[in-house]
Amino acid sequence: MAKDTPQTFYLKDYTPFGFDVESVHLTFRLTPETTRVLSKIRFAPKPDAADKTFFLHGEDLQLISAKIDGETVTPELIEGGLKCDVPSAPFTWEAEVEINPAGNTALEGLYMSNRMYCTQCEAEGFRKITYYPDRPDVMSTFTVRIEGDEPVMLSNGNPAGAGEGWAEWHDPWPKPAYLFALVAGDLVNHPGSFTTKSGKEVELNIWVRPGDEGKCAFGMEALKKSMKWDEDVYGLEYDLELFNIVAVDDFNMGAMENKGLNIFNSSCVLASPETSTDANFERIEAIIAHEYFHNWTGNRITCRDWFQLCLKEGLTVFRDAQFTADMRSEPVKRIDDVITLRARQFPEDNGPLAHPPRPEQFQEINNFYTATVYEKGAEVIGMLKRLVGDENYYKALKLYFERHDGQACTIEDWLKVFEDATGRDLQQFKLWYSQAGTPRVKVSEDYAGGTYTLTFEQSTPPTPGQPDKAPRVIPMAVGLLSPNGDEVRATEVLELTEAKQSFTFEGLASKPVPSILREFSAPVILERETTNAERAFLLAHDTDPFNRWEAGNALAKETRVAMVLDGAAPDAAYLDALEKLVRDDDQDPAFRALVLSPPSQSDIAQTLHERGYTPDPQKIYDAAETFTQTLAQQLETSLPRLYAATTVEGLYSPDAESAGKRALNGRILSLLTRLDGGDQAARQYAAADNMTQQYAALAALLKAEKGEVQSRAFFDQWQDDRLVMDKWFALQIACAAPEKTAATAKALTQHALFDMKNPNRFRAVFGALAGNHAGFHHASGEGYQLLADNLIALDKLNPQTTARMCAAFQTWKRYDAGRQSLIRAQLSRIAGTEGLSRDTNEMVTRILDA
Ligand SMILES: [Zn+2]
Repeated sequence: MAKDTPQTFYLKDYTPFGFDVESVHLTFRLTPETTRVLSKIRFAPKPDAADKTFFLHGEDLQLISAKIDGETVTPELIEGGLKCDVPSAPFTWEAEVEINPAGNTALEGLYMSNRMYCTQCEAEGFRKITYYPDRPDVMSTFTVRIEGDEPVMLSNGNPAGAGEGWAEWHDPWPKPAYLFALVAGDLVNHPGSFTTKSGKEVELNIWVRPGDEGKCAFGMEALKKSMKWDEDVYGLEYDLELFNIVAVDDFNMGAMENKGLNIFNSSCVLASPETSTDANFERIEAIIAHEYFHNWTGNRITCRDWFQLCLKEGLTVFRDAQFTADMRSEPVKRIDDVITLRARQFPEDNGPLAHPPRPEQFQEINNFYTATVYEKGAEVIGMLKRLVGDENYYKALKLYFERHDGQACTIEDWLKVFEDATGRDLQQFKLWYSQAGTPRVKVSEDYAGGTYTLTFEQSTPPTPGQPDKAPRVIPMAVGLLSPNGDEVRATEVLELTEAKQSFTFEGLASKPVPSILREFSAPVILERETTNAERAFLLAHDTDPFNRWEAGNALAKETRVAMVLDGAAPDAAYLDALEKLVRDDDQDPAFRALVLSPPSQSDIAQTLHERGYTPDPQKIYDAAETFTQTLAQQLETSLPRLYAATTVEGLYSPDAESAGKRALNGRILSLLTRLDGGDQAARQYAAADNMTQQYAALAALLKAEKGEVQSRAFFDQWQDDRLVMDKWFALQIACAAPEKTAATAKALTQHALFDMKNPNRFRAVFGALAGNHAGFHHASGEGYQLLADNLIALDKLNPQTTARMCAAFQTWKRYDAGRQSLIRAQLSRIAGTEGLSRDTNEMVTRILDA
């Protein structure tokens, strides 16, 4: 829905709804184009309400009739909903509306995906189903009756009866409307069960389209592990007789935690060795855990308003990261998370879209499902845990669940339980929730007479609407190593609270080598003058695995930066250090694979920008190519042995150890392919019996421009599998040379299987385009134009996905004047499109205005 003057909502304007909702009864009469929704809602006016207006949200609804206590009424239909005069005593509101699920391409509210009815209500989709106070602080119990001829008809809670052409559901737990869900269609289930620690039997189901039953076993196991883990670590038990998961092909997000009826993008639940990579398996396990954990952190305790989104998301991301660390490798998970944070959140925090984890204003809340709210929100909780210690953290969480169960809460409530449980004042810490931007921490050191001093200076660059910022509390985990590589001081957490602060370490026999920001103890950018020799020393000796990786990553970055700026050759000492590490079979293969993975080209561009240079995407690409080619040549004699040693034989298993080995094997194969003309990759492709190996071989071949035959074979083999086809679309664009990237993407948008209405397919193509740094930013500007053309077209169908993809342009001010003017032209063209959605308009305006 387009609006001429978009309304801005402010945190400071919060006012409670003037009525309690005592119960909700809904009846759905399903037909694709003319579904009728009958609501019967019991309202009770709050005697002390400041605002007594009876306003119900509603969008794209056709009101058929409305009644109060059985008497027909005529409400006033206004922008975004309706108003009505109501009694001052409790009353029953009834309404009948008509909606069109088949015509709903925005995929919010009730819509159809592959002939199946499904819903997505977070954040504000319920108002497209019926008139309702669609705000998270209004909680009620729901009883739902579904009428239709679909074989399976599901809603939240427990089943309450079913017969020919109808099914009823009752959810005993009061919930906000954003957690409402309905699914109806021709579905089959993969069943399971779980016994809770107090002995309750819970029936579990994963519902899929017929034919996908074979891809549910892994997801079911992940669900059971999540249920057990939440009992063991947080003491939290499941609270219904039934837990349903449904896989849906057309979905804007990854998955949705609706009470007792989680709805998943099929890419986030369906898994089989033949069709899913190791990375897919790990992601599926994490997302199933994430949505399940929301049952307590999100559903039982929800958010008062959408400004508090990070209350549920930051905490739940933090919990799912703990889960993955426990199930797999803690250091590898931490390194992966920091790579993601730097790739997604740092550019956001350092550009025109910067906002605090708890924003104070928005036009369209859908635009705030961001890396800052989720990933930085989780980092803030990690810092809190580090500052108060593990024991106090779980004490505070226990208090949180006791005090706030059944409530809609704020960040203030969250911090208060920590203050009450630990006696600690968190006023300054709270700045992490209200300030945007990534703090820079400058480190200097001094050593004299056995005393070593570290001095930290923190500052945060200006962000939109926040020119000056006060110092924050920064937990800085530090250890010290002696020059011979022994650890002389174990990790301790220094608390930075001032703009400039020094810490001393006494009684040291010689000047130590500091290992700073261990485990990445705070989401900051460290600035410290140091040498490549010291980085190589830490890569070899640091006891903190994160900082060992970080030292290697810094070496890789410095080498690339020198190659780009001075045309230097790849640093020989770094190449030697890499070779030594890669050949060291005592080291964890997953760790070696990570050290061998180069920093992204976008990351190099960001680093150059931070240091005051204008990044040239083509030069960054050339440096990456030269470096990798040189590394391959240096390792030439060891590559065949390494390849053989890391090849996982036997039946495929997605466990962490095998996956780590295959990750290293894939890196070795890509180096080998640069030297052998693709012979080994072609053999691996032909012999592969799992997607991880098939995909790695195809990627190596496409990158070397030798994969034409295999790409055709891949298409022939998998053309009927939508999820595997997404990989095929994305991989060709991701592997294309810069000058061919836009043309490759354009040709694929003309392919018969390109489907604009399917968010996964759209993201496969345009996510890959934006992710191919040198290709997207090719000086011709073709990449910019292609993306803008397609965003304009998609906006008419699906504003939410369009708006999110606009973020591809957020780093535009990094680049030279020529590229800036090309991007500005495309952004202005999008902004000037007639009928542009509120979602996209807000994003483009924010990016342009910076
Ligand atoms: Zn979530």
